Amino acid sequence: MATGGGNYRNGSHRNSLKGLSTITATDRPLSVNSNPSKPALRNKSLSSVTASSGLRKSSPASLGAAKDDAGVPGRVRVAVRLRPRNAEESVADADFADCVELQPELKRLKLRKNNWDTDTYEFDEVLTEFASQKRVYEVVAKPVVESVLDGYNGTVMAYGQTGTGKTYTLGRLGEEDTAYRGIMVRAMEDILAEISLESDSISVSYLQLYMETLQDLLDPTNDNISIVEDPKSGDVSLPGATLVEIRDQQSFLELLRLGEAHRYAANTKLNTESSRSHAILMVHVKRSVKGRESAHSSENGTSTNMTKSLRAPLVRKSKLVVVDLAGSERIDKSGSEGHTLEEAKSINLSLSALGKCINALAENSAHVPVRDSKLTRLLRDSFGGTARTSLVITIGPSPRHRGETASTIMFGQRAMKVENMLKLKEEFDYKSLARRLDIQLDKLIMEHERKHKAFEDELERITTDAENRISEVERNYADAMEKERLKYQKEYMESIKKLEEKWMMNQQKQSSERKEQMASTAEEVAEVKKSLSKETSLRKAAEEEVDSLKSQLAQLRKSEASANSEILKLRKMLEDEAHQKEKLEGEISMLQSQLLQLSFEADETRRRLDIGGPGKGPGNLDSLISQVRPQPKVSGNGEKASVAKLFEQVGLQKILSLLEAEDADVRIHAVKVVANLAAEETNQQKIVEAGGLTSLLMLLGSSEDETIHRVAAGAIANLAMNETNQELIMSQGGISMLSMTAANAEDPQTLRMVAGAIANLCGNDKLQTKLRGEGGIKALLGMVNCGHPDVLAQVARGIANFAKCESRASTQGSKTGRSLLIEDGALPWIVQNANNEASPIRRHIELALCHLAQHEVNAKDMISGGALWELVRISRDCSREDIRSLAHRTLTSSPSFLAELRRLRIEY
Ligand code: ADP
Ligand code: MG
Repeated sequence: MATGGGNYRNGSHRNSLKGLSTITATDRPLSVNSNPSKPALRNKSLSSVTASSGLRKSSPASLGAAKDDAGVPGRVRVAVRLRPRNAEESVADADFADCVELQPELKRLKLRKNNWDTDTYEFDEVLTEFASQKRVYEVVAKPVVESVLDGYNGTVMAYGQTGTGKTYTLGRLGEEDTAYRGIMVRAMEDILAEISLESDSISVSYLQLYMETLQDLLDPTNDNISIVEDPKSGDVSLPGATLVEIRDQQSFLELLRLGEAHRYAANTKLNTESSRSHAILMVHVKRSVKGRESAHSSENGTSTNMTKSLRAPLVRKSKLVVVDLAGSERIDKSGSEGHTLEEAKSINLSLSALGKCINALAENSAHVPVRDSKLTRLLRDSFGGTARTSLVITIGPSPRHRGETASTIMFGQRAMKVENMLKLKEEFDYKSLARRLDIQLDKLIMEHERKHKAFEDELERITTDAENRISEVERNYADAMEKERLKYQKEYMESIKKLEEKWMMNQQKQSSERKEQMASTAEEVAEVKKSLSKETSLRKAAEEEVDSLKSQLAQLRKSEASANSEILKLRKMLEDEAHQKEKLEGEISMLQSQLLQLSFEADETRRRLDIGGPGKGPGNLDSLISQVRPQPKVSGNGEKASVAKLFEQVGLQKILSLLEAEDADVRIHAVKVVANLAAEETNQQKIVEAGGLTSLLMLLGSSEDETIHRVAAGAIANLAMNETNQELIMSQGGISMLSMTAANAEDPQTLRMVAGAIANLCGNDKLQTKLRGEGGIKALLGMVNCGHPDVLAQVARGIANFAKCESRASTQGSKTGRSLLIEDGALPWIVQNANNEASPIRRHIELALCHLAQHEVNAKDMISGGALWELVRISRDCSREDIRSLAHRTLTSSPSFLAELRRLRIEY
């Protein structure tokens, strides 16, 4: 594979010989410089390798001439660039020598085989690790760019293992430092400087080729661009690729940046590395030849003003292709990086196809398999034809990658063999150049030595000068320091002295003062002691005071707390009271409403009775009382129950208390309720016990309201049915109250109630005398004036009751003398109503007459009063059998009556 170290000389000789033997004759003339006055050395770039060769001349004219004259295309120019050791290698390979040794002046590279043996290779240019980017550009790319500007296609490629500096060489933008600008940037600078933006144009495409797919780095969506070849011209074009016109360097840099970003994104997406893909920059240059001489005519010097004006305007199209090839390391062998063999093949297809084409070209093979891959199709016009191609192979120094480095070198070597013939010429040129370079080198070395000497002299002079100055400065400094020190020392001594004097003076002054002070101090001390003890006692007193105040305060706090609790208690009580009051008020309002209801009902009842009329209504006391009593027939048991319930709920005491209420309405309702309750025999005792009777009697006296009088009297009448109550009424001056009420009454119903009450009292044996004494009978008789049958019926009942009791007493012997009824003048009214058409009245009167007639003491009065005739009538006509026979018995048993009847000759 590699040319053996020993072989080099042979090979070289062979080549040289071959070259000499075959092309020597054409060598000099071929100095494509048609103008001998223009020495080949003018160009110090890559062309300097072949100083006298036409190829070095970057002008298309020379190429054209070469093609025309020799019928051969330009040879692929190959430079090798060594990357400096990186940080890692500096450490890891510290103990090892680089795997290569460069001899740039000889354009040789020695590849170390082992410690004692090396292989030597020659290249068009050997660029050491110190080669600047500028130099690399000038050597590798500048001739190509010049030929592009002259209308020829040109290609610059970088080939090498990943990490050896392909991208560094081609693609660096040099933003941080313009010295680092790579070939792409510098090429564009040169193109922009050369063309005229008015008449010419530049447009750029930027692509990536990966796994045989061409992607647009200026438009990532455009990811499968096809290659079109013009069958006639053989021109390769990419109609699908984005073409951006460039008018200044800045926009080109931006475009590169954008392409780089898209390349990064695309590789991230495909999970690949940029080292596996090829980056291809295409710069299309279109130049107008108008107003300029065509390269040919200019070069040939044949153009005249006349021919120029006759010539049609020309446009030259050319393109520069810069290819950052994928890493040359062989992944297909191992199938590493997670790729299948197929993928690995596909990844490397273009690169291996490139190798094959180069091999074919190098061996002058009849068939060059350009169609095998997209890369070779794309670069088909870069090999041979009118294109000028430069290849830079990049290698690293590390002995660990010796294998890859060797294969890279071999690739470069093969590429160099393309157009063998020219290489021979180079060989020839090399020797003379070497000689010249040796001389130059000697000169340079001498110059260098001279300069070095001068430099060292200068350095020495500056050093001595500096040393002198330093020692002078040091001296000055020491002097100044000493002076300063002395000055400060002196000042210090002086100030010490002054201070001592001052101190002495102070001492003296103080001792005399102290003596004076001693005396007065003793006094002062005594005084101070005194005042101190005084202060102490004062303080003690104050403390005591404070203590007592504190205890007082505590006591006060205690009493305040108790007062607070008392207040709280009172508040609570107050709240309770208020609550109670509220409750009572609620009850009152409830009672009021119930009373209203009851009174309404009572009124209704009365109205109904009134409508019934005196004749129809029952004339006895029961019916009278029933007017204030709930009417079972009318109101039903519900009402009775409701009153009883009310009685239970509210409590008798409360109802009675309402009899004294301020509000007249309330009083009326209350008295109605009490009357209703009093109608029930079961309630009567309770009412009396609760002082109800007294209240009712008082009401008769205190109230002026006749309704109250009427209802109260009714209630009293009901209560007066009980013997005990009768005595109570009497003892509380009931008769006078009732009499007075009767005297003031206008409503016959009031009179009826009063009469009813007195009538009940009249039925009590024990009260006869008292009743009569207090004017009870007179009161009864007083009421007959109103003439209302209900009233008269009650009066009659009272008289009958009284007469019955008197009669009983007389029979028992406890009473003597005339009937008190007769005494009080009741007889005329009795006689008058003995035959009253109202049967209740008549019946009571008939009974009363019978009772009176049973005692001889009354006979005389009765006979004179006309009662005898009434008795006779009763005994004959009374419809009630019992009364009829009683009257008869009475008449027949009374001697006075019998005598009178005989006197009157009435047969009885
Ligand atoms: P590749 O072409 O294989 O992708 P790069 O151009 O990315 O390699 O270079 C790999 C590393 O080496 C980068 O960090 C680059 O800056 C550095 N490098 C390459 N060539 C040089 C050089 N001539 N001088 C200094 N550093 C270099
Ligand atoms: Mg790279």
